[in-house]
Amino acid sequence: MLAGYAVQVEDSRGRRFPEASHPYRNDYQRDRDRIIHARAFRRLVDKTQVFTRRYSDHFRNRLTHTIEVSQITRTVAGALALNVDLAEALALVHDLGHPPFGHAGEKALDAAMRQQELSFDHNLHALRIVEDFEQRYAAFRGLNLTFEVREGIIKHSRDYDAATHPELAEYLLEQRPPLEAQLIDLTDEIGYNTADLDDGYEAHLLTLDQIRAGVPVFERFLGEVERIYPEAPEKLQFNETLKRILNRMADDLISNTQARVKHAGVKTLADVRSRKERIAAFSAEVEGERKQIKDFLHENLYYSPSLAGEKDDAERIVTDLFAFWMSNSSSLPRQYQEKAMEESLPRVVCDYIAGMTDHFIIEQYEKYC
Ligand code: MG
Repeated sequence: MLAGYAVQVEDSRGRRFPEASHPYRNDYQRDRDRIIHARAFRRLVDKTQVFTRRYSDHFRNRLTHTIEVSQITRTVAGALALNVDLAEALALVHDLGHPPFGHAGEKALDAAMRQQELSFDHNLHALRIVEDFEQRYAAFRGLNLTFEVREGIIKHSRDYDAATHPELAEYLLEQRPPLEAQLIDLTDEIGYNTADLDDGYEAHLLTLDQIRAGVPVFERFLGEVERIYPEAPEKLQFNETLKRILNRMADDLISNTQARVKHAGVKTLADVRSRKERIAAFSAEVEGERKQIKDFLHENLYYSPSLAGEKDDAERIVTDLFAFWMSNSSSLPRQYQEKAMEESLPRVVCDYIAGMTDHFIIEQYEKYC
């Protein structure tokens, strides 16, 4: 039984191109499967989250991060009696628009576009992927996803203004997205904040003492773990601590969202949509802890000198390749040359680069630059 404020698949606004219903999968389950079968989804396996393969093959990449977020999302959405199929599809698609080389690649691509008075936005890019670039079906371009999945791609992490984005007018920009979409930004935070502590510790860029000194919630749970498992190896104490932090954040997201639903008198999806504020949120206390973890990671991991060399490489590769194709468009693959007749060249070059894996863009760089 779904909550009254959940999205009901029967009430979906449907697909751009109507399709017959499937005998045993609902429309959001089909969307989830279409996302998993997309080429752009498979390429996430070779896109940097924080660490490149230079460090280790068992650190997160964008694909394993995405799977972790989708499992956290399923748990939270289920506990809130939301539509788990829709929430899962949105979690699986949430990072589809990311370029190679993580944040550094995204920043460099955006900077190159800004010089052309354009910009790069990974949510808008993800929408272009599912609407246009993926070609699997004879009857239409793109994946022909339901309205609610496309809306969630755009609106899960921020609100877009209708005046600056007239092309998004159909996505009810004056309304908040359903709770299934609102969750994604928060489950993403739960996923990467804990995972980045884990990978940073495994990479020996963060020590246990450093984390316990800089992250009070870590210190608190580690104390508890040390009392229960005084003899356990440090790595297992670390794991137990991290697990407790993840559970605390997920529990809090569930209970605090429930409390906010009640307090706001939200009963229907229309109530969720018409609120001025988003309803899904951590409590003030856990929000404070989340921010402490995030600030700690910014200060101690993301800008660590050990990662600086790769970031510089990433920036140079993206910047130089962008400039190369801007002045040598005849070296683009034929379908991109054809696209450049309908769309501006910078946008086409940006689309091409954004779709690349880390491996492929390095290969292109070696070939052309
Ligand atoms: Mg993410």
